Amino acid sequence: MKALRYLFAGMLFVGLAGNVLVLPYVMWLQVSRRGILAFFFDPMLDLQLALDILMLPLFWIMLAMSLVGFFGLQRMPAMSQKELARSQEELARTRHAWLEEVLPRAKEAAKAFPPGTLCKHCGLPYLETQECYVCTHDGVLSPGGSVLDELAWGAAREQIAEALKGPVG
Ligand SMILES: [Zn+2]
Repeated sequence: MKALRYLFAGMLFVGLAGNVLVLPYVMWLQVSRRGILAFFFDPMLDLQLALDILMLPLFWIMLAMSLVGFFGLQRMPAMSQKELARSQEELARTRHAWLEEVLPRAKEAAKAFPPGTLCKHCGLPYLETQECYVCTHDGVLSPGGSVLDELAWGAAREQIAEALKGPVG
């Protein structure tokens, strides 16, 4: 998948870069064939150059190449399923590691809070919603759980931050 993407990108680049060089090339052809004066006195020069370009097989080859590269890239998903899964896994691992490190400290700090403001289950302070995402939103804490649920994760982080900040702040 990745190799194919590089191939398409390479084709697009080579095709485009090649065709950028086509115009100076046909100009040079005209100069070498007819001398530099043709550039000053030939009113049909533009047409001639355009014809030269169209007659150049290399132009068509490179055009086809850049088109194949372009549409090939368009059809490729930005990330393959496997890459996507891997990046999600990576994110989950990072979040679990963070929780493991910070949650004990947050729970310890939460003990300074008035009891009514803390969740009975996990001991962290409630947010305004009176909902505890850290423990009720199943799995923010369980391994392989929904730490990837952005809403629950955001709320859990907030609860932890709240706990670490302390009851007055
Ligand atoms: Zn809780």
